[in-house]
Amino acid sequence: MHDCDVAIVGAGLERVFGPPAGDPVMYFEKDWSGEPYSRGSYAGVLGPGAWTGYGRALREPVDRIHWAGTETATRWMGYLDGAIQSGTRAGAEVIRAEGAALTAAAGAWAAHAARIVSGG
Ligand SMILES: Cc1cc2nc3c(=O)[nH]c(=O)nc-3n(C[C@H](O)[C@H](O)[C@H](O)COP(=O)(O)OP(=O)(O)OC[C@H]3O[C@@H](n4cnc5c(N)ncnc54)[C@H](O)[C@@H]3O)c2cc1C
Repeated sequence: MHDCDVAIVGAGLERVFGPPAGDPVMYFEKDWSGEPYSRGSYAGVLGPGAWTGYGRALREPVDRIHWAGTETATRWMGYLDGAIQSGTRAGAEVIRAEGAALTAAAGAWAAHAARIVSGG
């Protein structure tokens, strides 16, 4: 952003929020189009045919690794809604895959704690 752009933005902020907003103490600017991985897009950029050809593979677990992230969503990929959907799905996958082991571990810890409490 150039200085003249700062003045334009400041004037806009001042119009909406009042005079103090037009005189910022500091500001931070980011050129999103300069991002090497997203190239200005909201999310990771896949080339033509990647979604339709390989999209499903983005969310297939690999052993105990489960993938979340908006790029793996089935709806609203690239947006916060997609991020939430993918996180919910990945969490459910982990519970389904690891649930029995987690339940067994929790049971063992509960028994251990009960022994400590009872002095046994
Ligand atoms: C400029 C811009 C404007 C946007 N505006 C909107 C909007 O108005 N509405 C909307 O719905 N969406 C918007 N989005 C999109 C939205 O921000 C994303 O879709 C969402 O944040 C993706 O969430 P995520 O959890 O998938 O990934 P992220 O939010 O990117 O989270 C991934 C996290 O993983 C961390 N990480 C990366 N690598 C590693 C590593 N190796 N080890 C540990 N941690 C790591 C990162 O630091 C990051 O915190 C915008 C995006 C941009 C860039």
